[in-house]
Amino acid sequence: MERTPHVLLSGNGAEEFARTMSAEFVDTSYFITTDRYNDWKHAKEAEEKQRGIKGSGGMIDTPAPFKFGTVGCVALDRNGNLAAGTSTGGMNMKMYGRVGDSPIIGAGTYANNKTCAVSCTGHGEYFIRWAVAHDISAMMEYKGVS
Ligand code: ASP
Repeated sequence: MERTPHVLLSGNGAEEFARTMSAEFVDTSYFITTDRYNDWKHAKEAEEKQRGIKGSGGMIDTPAPFKFGTVGCVALDRNGNLAAGTSTGGMNMKMYGRVGDSPIIGAGTYANNKTCAVSCTGHGEYFIRWAVAHDISAMMEYKGVS
């Protein structure tokens, strides 16, 4: 947002841009942790049980005891400015290249000084399809709901 006229870059373009900005890079193995690997294993087993097919692909809910990771926050400063932020825990079994709702303002994250601040967790596809966080704010702004 500060170094390009754009709001969002993804994939190879984002990586290329990050390199020109001298961002630090790590090997992808850096992101593999025992906890997340175990979450994936449990989700894969649950999926296979649910569908009765091995390796069928497709996102499913992470079983409850293995559901961790999303951090949502909203804040109001002394000048009446609202802010919202969402750090995703991610989704298991998603397709390579899938983009969730966290970077898309208005999907699961939104703040408007006139209304409210929102941070959601759950399947981002729903938040994106229905612009959920913005819709909540819009209902307050345009319909006067609380
Ligand atoms: N909303 C996130 C996604 O769809 C998952 C989460 O962290 O709640 O990627």
